[in-house]
Amino acid sequence: MSSKLIALVTGANKGLGFETSRQLAQNGIKVLMGARKEAKGRAAAEKLQSEGLDVGFILLDITKSEHIKHVKKYIEKHFGRLDILVNNAGMLHKEEPLVSNSVETISLKALRQTFDVNFFGTVELTQALLPLIKKSAAGRIVNVSSILGSLAYQSEESEKFKPFAYDASKTALNQFTIHLSAALRNTPIKVNSAHPGWVKTDMGGSDAPMDVTEGAKTAVKLATLGPKGPTGKFFHFDEEMPW
Ligand code: NAP
Repeated sequence: MSSKLIALVTGANKGLGFETSRQLAQNGIKVLMGARKEAKGRAAAEKLQSEGLDVGFILLDITKSEHIKHVKKYIEKHFGRLDILVNNAGMLHKEEPLVSNSVETISLKALRQTFDVNFFGTVELTQALLPLIKKSAAGRIVNVSSILGSLAYQSEESEKFKPFAYDASKTALNQFTIHLSAALRNTPIKVNSAHPGWVKTDMGGSDAPMDVTEGAKTAVKLATLGPKGPTGKFFHFDEEMPW
């Protein structure tokens, strides 16, 4: 059994997931970098290994139950527990640009595909790994959400970024945070949602004001909360976001 904390980050081959893996590993945590494409996942892990970081690649498309089962077995066999799960993998469907209101036009296919990744896959993975997280002395689950999923924020008239499938899937993800944290209230496990900010990545685009180094910080902070830290909340850095 490893004395180091063990983390799994989904969608870790690029963007925020890659940087979150880097920052967690820089904190002395062993990081399993989940990626759905083997070549890209391996290359990402090798890049961080070349920086001297303790990371490894694991094949994980969160919409594939057989991948989830394999990841669970792998972690069980090699570590016997999971300390940190960062549910970072997410998608913004190509049918809906970030600055749009797609509610009248988005196809049901695109809506379902978005929910498959941002909600159903994330829930299935988390449920599967929960028995291993319960074996940790201080389990931490971070759901990488978005302020675009906030009903309070979206109901302000000034808000123009309205990709409907994406926003609704993140609202559902936030409900998962609230329900799961309530179910685990009598355990040491903390479950929170993170809003990274608007970050320059393939999803965030080049107009985004933040870089990934800053963007990863909220998830890293929530993944490494001490015993008195919050649970069932939604944060951007130290600021609590409205649901
Ligand atoms: P990104 O660069 O597009 O990265 C998304 C990651 O998710 C990629 O690694 C992608 O893998 C992976 N992914 C997609 N579908 C997957 C699946 N079925 N199984 C496993 N992995 C899958 O986007 P990002 O900006 O880093 O986004 C990371 C998270 O932050 C997302 O949840 C996003 O909603 C959230 N977020 C981002 C921003 C922003 O401004 N960038 C703002 C708020 C929230 P492939 O490379 O194989 O596609």
